[in-house]
Amino acid sequence: LVEIHGISKSYGAVQVLKDVTLDVAKGEIIAVIGRSGSGKSTMLRCINGLEPVQAGVIRVDGTQVNDPKTDLRKLRQEVGIVFQSFNLFPHLSVCDNITLAPRVVKKQAPQAAREVAREVLARVGLEDKLDAYPSQLSGGQQQRVAIARSLAMRPKLMLFDEVTSALDPELTGEVLKVLESVAQEGMTMILVTHEMGFARRFGSRVVFMHEGRVHEQGPAAAVLAEPKTPELQSFLSAVL
Ligand code: ATP
Ligand code: MG
Repeated sequence: LVEIHGISKSYGAVQVLKDVTLDVAKGEIIAVIGRSGSGKSTMLRCINGLEPVQAGVIRVDGTQVNDPKTDLRKLRQEVGIVFQSFNLFPHLSVCDNITLAPRVVKKQAPQAAREVAREVLARVGLEDKLDAYPSQLSGGQQQRVAIARSLAMRPKLMLFDEVTSALDPELTGEVLKVLESVAQEGMTMILVTHEMGFARRFGSRVVFMHEGRVHEQGPAAAVLAEPKTPELQSFLSAVL
């Protein structure tokens, strides 16, 4: 579903992605780990065309992301992204937050959009919050709404960038549970995470980024239990 081939990306003179190659099959759950500054977020942003790359090719479901002719708006309907900060519109109800894009971009009728909102909220366990405002929700609930909002666009691929990092530990679990159920529905997911337990249980594959490169990757259990490179060994001993 995702083909990343030899991409390089620089900000000015600083090269943050160096010849990154990664293929993701439909239904795979990829956990991306690595030190701060290793290029994890940048890679996610390149996949849905938020950032241009200087070399290489990125394709999502056959569409070349870094082709000037590609309609990035259309691509982003198919690639959901959820960030650490929930980015809900504070002045809009949960329902309006979720239905905004389907109504504007997909021209869904208000009633149909509201039905979709109801359904995706049920999937994240918040069906009773349809008419609440973000300020009335806990951080974990807001993040679940942000995930529901992405699901409402019916994406083929979901990107998650440290979606639990801003949350208190007791709220992290409820968001991980939602990720788990989205994964079990067969969604293809690439998630940057510090939750090694989650990566081990749900990642079909773990990708370790180091200094802008995919430094080591493989089946989650193997990579985490028997890291081969000294860089991954030292990263894991620091986080575990
Ligand atoms: P973290 O774990 O802290 O989120 P990360 O692995 O996600 O780190 P990135 O955010 O991808 O790292 O950043 C990779 C490098 O690119 C860093 O050195 C960062 O300073 C640099 N960088 C990121 N965004 C920009 C930008 N908009 N302009 C210039 N440099 C940037
Ligand atoms: Mg990051």
